[in-house]
Amino acid sequence: MAKSKRVRTPMLDQFMKIKSEYPDAILFFRMGDFYEMFFDDAKVASEILGLRLTTRAHGKAAKVPLAGFPHHQIDSYMTRMVKARQKIVVVEQVEDPKLAKGLVKRAVVRVATAGTNPAAVDQEEIQSNRIAAIFKYKSRYGLAWADIVTGEFLAGEFSEDELKLSAGHLNPVEIIVPETRHEFDPRIFLDASSAIESKVEDWIWETSFARQTLLDHFGTRGLKGFGLEHLELAISAAGALLHYLKGNLHTKADHLTHLARADVKGNLIMEATTRRNLELVDSLVGNHQATLFAVVNHCLTGSGKRLLYNRLLSPLANIERIEHRLDAVDSLKSGMNLCLEFRDLLKHSGDIQRLLARLATGRGSARDLVGIRESLIIMPDYQRKLSTVSSPLLKRLETGIRTLDSLKIKLQESLQDNPPLYTHEGGMIRDGYNNEIDELRQIRSQGKSWLGTFEEQERKRTGIPNLKVGFNRVFGYYIEVTKSHVDKTPDNYQRRQTLVGAERYITPELGDFESKLMGAEEKIFALEKEIFQELVDLTLDQSTALQENAQILANIDFLCGLAVLAEEEEYNRPTLNDSDQIILKGCRHPVVEKLLPPGEEFIPNDLEIGGGGKRIQIVTGPNMAGKSTYLRQIALSVILAQMGSFIPAESACIGVVDKLFTRIGALDNLAGGESTFLVEMQETASILHNATDRSLVVFDEVGRGTSTFDGLSLAWAIVEYLHEKKSLRPRTLFATHFHEMVELERHLEFVENRNVAVREYENKVVFLRKIVSGGSDRSFGIHVAQMAGLPPAVISRARDVLRNLEANDLNPGEENGRNSKSTTLKISKDKTGGDQVLTDKLPKTTKKIANPKVRAAQLTFFDPIEKELRSVLQTVDPNNITPMEALNLVAELKKILD
Ligand code: ATP
Repeated sequence: MAKSKRVRTPMLDQFMKIKSEYPDAILFFRMGDFYEMFFDDAKVASEILGLRLTTRAHGKAAKVPLAGFPHHQIDSYMTRMVKARQKIVVVEQVEDPKLAKGLVKRAVVRVATAGTNPAAVDQEEIQSNRIAAIFKYKSRYGLAWADIVTGEFLAGEFSEDELKLSAGHLNPVEIIVPETRHEFDPRIFLDASSAIESKVEDWIWETSFARQTLLDHFGTRGLKGFGLEHLELAISAAGALLHYLKGNLHTKADHLTHLARADVKGNLIMEATTRRNLELVDSLVGNHQATLFAVVNHCLTGSGKRLLYNRLLSPLANIERIEHRLDAVDSLKSGMNLCLEFRDLLKHSGDIQRLLARLATGRGSARDLVGIRESLIIMPDYQRKLSTVSSPLLKRLETGIRTLDSLKIKLQESLQDNPPLYTHEGGMIRDGYNNEIDELRQIRSQGKSWLGTFEEQERKRTGIPNLKVGFNRVFGYYIEVTKSHVDKTPDNYQRRQTLVGAERYITPELGDFESKLMGAEEKIFALEKEIFQELVDLTLDQSTALQENAQILANIDFLCGLAVLAEEEEYNRPTLNDSDQIILKGCRHPVVEKLLPPGEEFIPNDLEIGGGGKRIQIVTGPNMAGKSTYLRQIALSVILAQMGSFIPAESACIGVVDKLFTRIGALDNLAGGESTFLVEMQETASILHNATDRSLVVFDEVGRGTSTFDGLSLAWAIVEYLHEKKSLRPRTLFATHFHEMVELERHLEFVENRNVAVREYENKVVFLRKIVSGGSDRSFGIHVAQMAGLPPAVISRARDVLRNLEANDLNPGEENGRNSKSTTLKISKDKTGGDQVLTDKLPKTTKKIANPKVRAAQLTFFDPIEKELRSVLQTVDPNNITPMEALNLVAELKKILD
């Protein structure tokens, strides 16, 4: 700010004063028809927006860096800046420059950040605009979040674990925290590494102030109705968030009509990693068609799509609520005609949430009011149709509809059918609605016919046959005379403009007419604007009811979309119960089946897990066989079912899952200082700490991020832990290439092996995609590498190495060389044909590269036997035993060994 001392123009002083209040923001400073940015703001903005950076002299000494853009482009530039994590302060001229004495007054009219960008209400994308506020006291957290587009506003109180488990789906774009009181990184809790963090002064979070902020906004006397009365941390977060939102938007935010209590109970809990791993709404590789949302979305309206999006991220765990949704989908599917009629209506219903958000943030036009009017006109149609169904949920929707007749009639009487886009243009209000406007409009139309008469009269008077009267924005009304007739113009013609072939004039009579007409026009615009604002206020007064209607339409769209999905994609209704069993017959992967190349068919698979039977499946099989697909299709089917959707299976019986965990693939967080393997283990730790016997856990290749021995040992121990801890023992699917793990089936009661069948045919592998009983002992990795196009030399060498490894000759061709020690392992085949170690003379230095299969065989076969032998021997006193007893003992020991 040192520069300010050198520059002394009043306008820059004005800029500096406002900038000093918002040092961390970029000012969009209105200058006539442009927004301009100065100094460093100009440099940053020109880089992000690709604008030309120039300088302008201000005062004697300084050349000030400058960048600017035309005022009508503000929304797109603001959105780009906000996406680039900038905070924008919009400074407008707040008085008419023509009337200003000296420097025109300017003031901040809004502050735009990622979560408070008013331009977001115009965007059609189904993206999160959520802004969250988080407040910590001792070990508890108050969390609130809102979305200025949908009007969603929730708050709750959580422990650290609850927060991690249940808030990961929020995906906020901005998080606000108290200015000085936070010693944690909220982005980690909310899994929102790309969210911007904004600080809000501490006093705004004080419970009493925050409570008052909420009470003032909702016009209530307490917060009991919201279920938040005693949740002080939630109140702090919600109050601070509301204060911040209103402050930035500079509006009353009337469309935030309701504050709901955020509760983890009743929902299927999924960590953010699960949402990501399963590609529910975002694809890991950026293929937008390859998400569950893309495939199941058959909604027609923006609010329906947003509802589906949010429900996919937050399915239910309450059977009754799930069944209600399923009943509704069922009745719409079996009454497809009715469903299609609803969809016809939906095509004509505006996106009420977005329309309201536009009106509430001061961005609305008469077209938005017309949108609200149209949706109100068809609300009774929805009501009639809903009254014909028996599903309790649809019935509830019917009774919730608010027809708002008086608002509808008001909007019908007042607004044109197709009003203009901009409010300053007039033409919004119907003839006959307001007497004054009607009279002024008459003056205006009479004026137009007066012009025709005047033109005729002047032609006659001057004898100029081609004289014409015209209008342009700069000079107003004029009389145009071609150069050849200029000598005939009377004295009262005053020249206004000279063109190449003509002169333009004004006369006192035409001047009088112009001011009368303009006066009428200006008055019409002012009156129309006034009435428009009244209509906006009337509409916003009904925000609560309108938001309820919006929710109802979103629900109808959501349910009809699911009915159409079920019909078109042959999904079936799952049965849900409170057992701990999952039975799926003929289950498919909803996304993979849609993306298979033409001619390829998806092979359905079955699953039976939990109940009194097996609870852990070890899934082995070659690379590319379909293990991950199988695991994921089960997780996705559970999510769909608990969201209330039919699922891609012939039949399904699902014991409701309380938490769904996945440990899939490796998501690096190198920037966060965490290695791939560390992330893998952190996720696994969270599963082991939080899973219950009602949970579903999907492990895809755990342990592959480290050395084979470490990985296998961990994988092994993890399964044992899940199996042995009684309160835990979740339903678990464990895909692995550690074929040694199949041994667990023999030792652990609730473990069973599954593998994906393949057939070897003429040295080729044919993938059968069928999940069958039993384990697999080959990965066919080299075969897949060949398919991927690795050079033939590499493939052939790899085959040699593999052959040698399988014969346990670790370094073929170098018996006498430097690694020859590694060949001293002696192996024999066990009865099942697997490798079994007889002696392991491997020196310590070379153990690292020993065949993992060998090591695992040791683990598998020797450890339990050794244990048993030990326990028998420990009971024996050799000094106190008869020869016969000794003989029997040897026989017993031999039996154990066998
Ligand atoms: P890897 O061990 O190498 O990770 P994988 O066994 O997990 O392999 P997937 O990634 O599940 O194999 O499947 C590979 C491909 O096989 C899928 O992308 C899909 O195209 C196809 N596929 C998998 N399952 C099926 C199925 N049931 N029916 C038809 N195609 C399938």
